[in-house]
Amino acid sequence: MVMYNPTRTTTYPSEPIDKGLRYHFLGGGEEVGNIGCVIEDHTQTKLLFDYGLSPTKPPKYPAAAPKVSDTIITHAHIDHIGMVPWLNSSFNTRLHATSFTSKISKLMWDDCYKISKIEGYPLAWDKINASESEAAWNVHEYNSMNELDQWSWCLRRAGHIPGAAMIDIQTPENKILITGDFDTRNSRLVEGAKPIKSDILFMEGTYGGKNHPNRQEEEQRFLRSVEKVVENNGTVLIPSFAMGRSQDILMILQDSDFDLNIHYDGMGKKITKTMLECPEMILNPSALKLAFGNSKKVSSKSDRKKALDADVIVTTSGMLEGGPAIWYLNRLRIDKRNTIFLTGYQAEGTGGRMLLEKSRLPIYGNITQIDLETKKFDFSTHAGHDELVQFAKDTEAKDVVLYHTDPNTARPALSKSLSELGINVHSPMNRETYFID
Ligand SMILES: [Zn+2]
Ligand SMILES: [Zn+2]
Repeated sequence: MVMYNPTRTTTYPSEPIDKGLRYHFLGGGEEVGNIGCVIEDHTQTKLLFDYGLSPTKPPKYPAAAPKVSDTIITHAHIDHIGMVPWLNSSFNTRLHATSFTSKISKLMWDDCYKISKIEGYPLAWDKINASESEAAWNVHEYNSMNELDQWSWCLRRAGHIPGAAMIDIQTPENKILITGDFDTRNSRLVEGAKPIKSDILFMEGTYGGKNHPNRQEEEQRFLRSVEKVVENNGTVLIPSFAMGRSQDILMILQDSDFDLNIHYDGMGKKITKTMLECPEMILNPSALKLAFGNSKKVSSKSDRKKALDADVIVTTSGMLEGGPAIWYLNRLRIDKRNTIFLTGYQAEGTGGRMLLEKSRLPIYGNITQIDLETKKFDFSTHAGHDELVQFAKDTEAKDVVLYHTDPNTARPALSKSLSELGINVHSPMNRETYFID
């Protein structure tokens, strides 16, 4: 087994508690991503939810988890699932998730492993750990009840991406709701989350202090922009996250007034096939099937060359950090009729962020000037500030723990809005222990 080097001993306290709820973020308390949180009550029922890593350079790990019998994984993004192979190989932990999350997990781990090899950062787990973890899933349908020692729990729809779940827990004393990454708005792919009455709410706050534009208007702005480029005989390069965003984009493009020639490249193809195997996780499976069928799947070098004449290329990576998107950009950049439409959050230090701010980015190691028009669209599937506040209000929770959030830019605004409603707001730091009575 590969040793987990960043911390060999857990920061989680070992002594039992005699009342209330104890929680401890191993990661993701005061940051977006890198999630892992342990909750425990006086019955010594204990649960770890999510255990991911941030795919930064080098990758960022949560603190080492304590030995836990059960872990619930809210969804398959790598910042929530990326450290599961280490967990499972260390403690033989039972893993719980929805069917789509379990089915797609191995692909996510393999991709993470591949990238770590390319970038030369060793991971805390190996491919054997990933294969063993794949066999350790306990699959749960939404809304079906389960027992964990003195608690009962079930998964609820979270919006966000297919398979994403909120965790709804009844302890002897409290009703606890953990949102995971969530959105109350429908996207093309998934139905939005509905609030559930709770005493204690753990809520992600990625978009604290920020609101999204109206989704329908943003889709129209996107479609008209695509059509303008195509009318002018250009190609639109759309770097998109493989999981969720690329499928949303394919479905939006179906509504164009033009008969668009769309090419689809990258890991999203495999992910879409798996989504179609789990139609119960999708809002409109036939719309996804149609959009996927109408795209030309790029699977060889010659396909890739042909795609350069397409109207639209939808491909990874979503932040222009590598993948086919860079190959396309390196060729499309010589013709100013071509454009780049970014469709997701561009993290600090990524090629996409550099392109937006400085009109240049690294292409195969060389910082390259890009003179193409670049536009950014907001198709986020995280709840915006107003949705977050409304959701918390609708759950009627007395205590709200804000996590998966920037402690400087996002959390203070959210904390203020919730406090004004009379809610006890908790703003945890990583590796610290907190109690709610
Ligand atoms: Zn996340
Ligand atoms: Zn996510």
